[in-house]
Amino acid sequence: MGTTKKFKKIGVVTTGGDCPGLNAAIRAVVRTGIYHGMEVTGILQGYEGMIKGEFVRLGSHSVSNILQRGGTILKTARSEAFKTVEGRKKAYDNLVKEGIEALVVIGGDGSFKGIEQFSREFPITSVGVPKTIDNDIFGTDYAIGFDTALNTVIQVIDKIRDTADSHNRLFFVEVMGRDAGMIAIYSGIASGAEAVLIPETETKIEQIVKILDRGWERKKSSMIVIVAEGDVAGGAYEIALEVKARFNQYDTRVSVLGHMQRGGSPTCNDRVLASRLGVAAVQALIEGRTNEMVGVINNEISHTSYSDVVKGKKEFPYQLLKIAEILSL
Ligand code: ATP
Repeated sequence: MGTTKKFKKIGVVTTGGDCPGLNAAIRAVVRTGIYHGMEVTGILQGYEGMIKGEFVRLGSHSVSNILQRGGTILKTARSEAFKTVEGRKKAYDNLVKEGIEALVVIGGDGSFKGIEQFSREFPITSVGVPKTIDNDIFGTDYAIGFDTALNTVIQVIDKIRDTADSHNRLFFVEVMGRDAGMIAIYSGIASGAEAVLIPETETKIEQIVKILDRGWERKKSSMIVIVAEGDVAGGAYEIALEVKARFNQYDTRVSVLGHMQRGGSPTCNDRVLASRLGVAAVQALIEGRTNEMVGVINNEISHTSYSDVVKGKKEFPYQLLKIAEILSL
């Protein structure tokens, strides 16, 4: 690796919603920074902490024993103040005062919009690391947190299947995904759901009823419909009510999984992904890169400009819908 840029001190921040694997990414950034002879400062509470000047020195030891822990030792937040130029000016002044010459921003789409705006106004060097359980960030095949969220979801659905099967019940299980059906479709295939309802496609109640009728005729002892929370037909409760009015062969129940999907110890895949991306982010800074997000495409480290990340639309794997349909017979 040809070293072209040397920083005395870099900063690392986690911003936006939390997810498992953030600590593994923080650890990777800190250790890579130290490996290259730099000091690393943690910024607390996302962009809000940058505005308030909440900084903490991160030595190698400070990130010991965090790799396997969910959440983020730096905390995270959403910051309305960072959306104002006054807020961003304060943030910049604090970074200068603290001697932070470059930043690693571990965040989602919104965080990259924020840092892109910030770097248009102030001379700040930064590289982004993608995290979101929804896995809908353009410029990477996988974002930190997705794999762990999926594993949490399928463990719960397996349990729901046990009880549903014992009582001959139909369950509507709502999973996270306001705009993206990635958790729904992956967990649907992995748990053998009868139907998967996602925001990317139109949901027709008659079609769900048709699938459930077919299951009833085949004497299925339980059925599970996965609903992404952002489905246009409504959440799991609304859809269950509409379906029940037309299909009432089974005792119907609803389970909304909620925030458990954001917590827990990261899976091996998320730990390795977070470690790779954390290392790649610091290396990118050293190589003189800025205003880019590191990602993994076809298992290789990739670099995508913030403007492409926020403008781009990640393609939904529509072929997985067909797989779910074929296998739910
Ligand atoms: P998640 O996937 O969990 O939503 P995210 O990074 O997309 O993560 P957001 O809350 O959308 O989370 O964004 C994080 C923060 O980035 C916001 O709280 C805000 O401070 C900042 N931000 C977002 N959009 C902008 C913008 N257009 N201009 C300036 N700052 C922004």
